[in-house]
Amino acid sequence: MEDLTSIKEDLLRDLESAKDLQALAEIKAKYLGKKGLISSLFKRIREIPPEERKSFGQKVNSLKEEAEKLIRERERSIKEQQLQEKLKSEWEDLSLPYDRSLGHLHPITQTLRRIIEIFRSMGFQVEEGPEIELEDYNFDKLNVPKDHPARDMQDTFYVNREGYLLRTHTSPVQIRTLLKGELPVYMVAPGKVYRRDDDPTHSPMFHQVEGLAVDREISFRHMKFVIESFLKEFFEKDLPVRLRSSYFPFTEPSAEVDIGCVICGGKGCRVCKDTGWLEVMGCGMVHPKVLENCGIDSELYQGFAFGMGVERLAMLLYRIDNIKLFYENNLRFLEQF
Ligand SMILES: [Zn+2]
Repeated sequence: MEDLTSIKEDLLRDLESAKDLQALAEIKAKYLGKKGLISSLFKRIREIPPEERKSFGQKVNSLKEEAEKLIRERERSIKEQQLQEKLKSEWEDLSLPYDRSLGHLHPITQTLRRIIEIFRSMGFQVEEGPEIELEDYNFDKLNVPKDHPARDMQDTFYVNREGYLLRTHTSPVQIRTLLKGELPVYMVAPGKVYRRDDDPTHSPMFHQVEGLAVDREISFRHMKFVIESFLKEFFEKDLPVRLRSSYFPFTEPSAEVDIGCVICGGKGCRVCKDTGWLEVMGCGMVHPKVLENCGIDSELYQGFAFGMGVERLAMLLYRIDNIKLFYENNLRFLEQF
C-alpha cells in the first residue's frame, strides 16, 4: 500500500517537470509501459495474502486509471501551451505589415463615446433622431416662438420641402422620445446639428449631446447633481462648477453651466478670456408647455434637459484652439489621438 502512495507522488512530481510531449512519453512508459511501475504491481498480486488480493487489485486498478487520466490532462495542457506560444510568435510576424495602416477612432467619436459612457453609467439610454427634421419638432413643440431669431434664414438651413430643415440642435429628439409616451424617460441623444455659423470656434456642422430626464418629482437639484457628476468624470478632475441664470424657450428656469477654466485653473487666460470660467453647456427644467405639447401631464411629471457641444468639450479636453482641425483630416493631427 505504501508503494502505491509513493508511486502516485513520484508520478505527480514527474508530470510537473515534464516540459514537452517527448518527456511525457517517457513518463508514460515509466509508469504504464509493460515493465512500468504500475504494470509490475499487478505481477505482485501473487505475493499478497489471498484475502487481501481483491482489495489490492482494485486499488492498483484505480491507480492505473488515475495515472492515465493525469497523463492525458498534462498532455492537453502541454499542447495548449505550445499552441499559445506558437500563436504569440506568429502573431508578431503577421501584424508587422499592417501596423502602419491601422486606423483609430476620430477624436470627436472618442469624445462622443466618452460622454455617452458616463451617462450610461448613470442610467441614461441612448436615443437618436433624423438630421433632416420637422420644423414642428425642431422649434414649435419646443416652445420656440414663430418670431424667434433662431428660426431666421440667417441662422437655420431650410431644405426644399415645406416644414423641414436641418436640425439646429439635438433637442427635437426630446420631442420624439416624449411622443412615444413611455415614462419615465432618462435619455441622451448624440448627433450632428447644423447652423449658419463659421469661425475658428464654430462650424456649420457640429455635434451635440442632448440629455433629458422626465419623471415624477424631479427637481433642479437632481439636474445639478447629474451635470456636476458628468463634468467631474469627463475632465477627470474635481472642477468647480457654477450655474448662471439664462434663457431658453424650452426650459424654465434655464441656466448656463460654467466650469473652472481647465487651461489656467481659474487664474485667467486667453481661452477663458481672463474670467477663469468656461461655458460648457446649457440646461434647465423642461418647460411645462413642452411636456403638454407631447401629451404629458405637467402637473404629474417634471423634467430637466441639458445640451452640450461635443467639439467644444473635445477642444477643452485635448486643448485644441481651432475647431476646423477636426474636419481637415490632416493625419499629423489625427494621429495624436
Ligand atoms: Zn483660463
